[in-house]
Amino acid sequence: MTELSEAALRDLVDRLDTGVFVLNRELEVLFWNNFMAANSGMPAIEIVGHRLTERFPELPERWLRKKVETVFVLRNRSFTAWEQRPYLLRFHHNRPVTGGVEHMYQNCTFSPCRNAEGEVETVVVTLQDVTDLAMAHRALELAKEQLAQSSRLDGLTGLFNRGYWEHCLAGEFKRSLRSGAPLALIIFDLDHFKVINDTFGHLAGDEVLRGVGERLRAILRETDIAGRYGGEEFGVIATDCEVAGACVLAERIRAGMEALSFAYEGQAIRVTVSLGIAGNDPAVDDYQKLIAGADDALYRSKREGRNRFTAYHSG
Ligand code: GH3
Ligand code: MG
Ligand code: MG
Repeated sequence: MTELSEAALRDLVDRLDTGVFVLNRELEVLFWNNFMAANSGMPAIEIVGHRLTERFPELPERWLRKKVETVFVLRNRSFTAWEQRPYLLRFHHNRPVTGGVEHMYQNCTFSPCRNAEGEVETVVVTLQDVTDLAMAHRALELAKEQLAQSSRLDGLTGLFNRGYWEHCLAGEFKRSLRSGAPLALIIFDLDHFKVINDTFGHLAGDEVLRGVGERLRAILRETDIAGRYGGEEFGVIATDCEVAGACVLAERIRAGMEALSFAYEGQAIRVTVSLGIAGNDPAVDDYQKLIAGADDALYRSKREGRNRFTAYHSG
């Protein structure tokens, strides 16, 4: 014997760990292997001779017709990857731990099957389970996103770190120069923070910084960009905001921090902050000047008694 019998070939295709089925031009099923039967719950006897879309009405019929028709016309193999279409038929996967994946991801091929005259008579569709691949890909994307996030964030407060915050400021400054929209900067520094460290210890000081970051987040609008500028210094970029508006915001921050109270070993730790504000008036052509202006105003707040805000005036 030099050729496999048809029965032996069928048996072989039935044992594959890949879905295999055959369609004619009208999308009628001519063959349906065991993988397809086991995963769909539809035995071959119930689907062979019927249109695929009649048995699986949820299939995207127009898309499928076009796909099959293209194979008939171009006589070429065509491919659909899970990245474009996660699955052709929604099957459950059989993995115990999936991290939220609820169905089998599939790669599909549509291959022309020719008769003796070279005409395409049928299309063989294969459906490969690539759930493991898709899950690994998802995990990698997630890890990359987390890595990118952590390189932007300050570990203690969860606010942006100085590097990323300045990068945002540079971008917002450029944008405001182009559009003419106002932009204001607020920088604030905790008052006599060294005393808190010296009295209650560095760890308690860290808790205070964490709490200040949390309160700051609660006070700000979605469009304000907050960062930890230095050890106990914070910065807020207020987009589309005039200096007058920034003064209102600064007062909210001042009052919000003054109202905080941290319980520590039976005692209450209280903080106040001093703030400096600068706006991008026409004389400011560089974001560093905005920082310098806010810094200058902040030190005026310190000199004039702390627990207050000052807006920068040149001259
Ligand atoms: P002023 O009102 O003039 O700002 O007084 P100050 O004591 O806050 O200023 P100073 O710059 O002398 O002290 C800042 C202190 O902040 C000293 C430093 O140890 C502390 N600090 C900076 N970063 C951290 C941190 O991450 N955690 C803790 N616990 N303390 C920090
Ligand atoms: Mg300080
Ligand atoms: Mg300081």
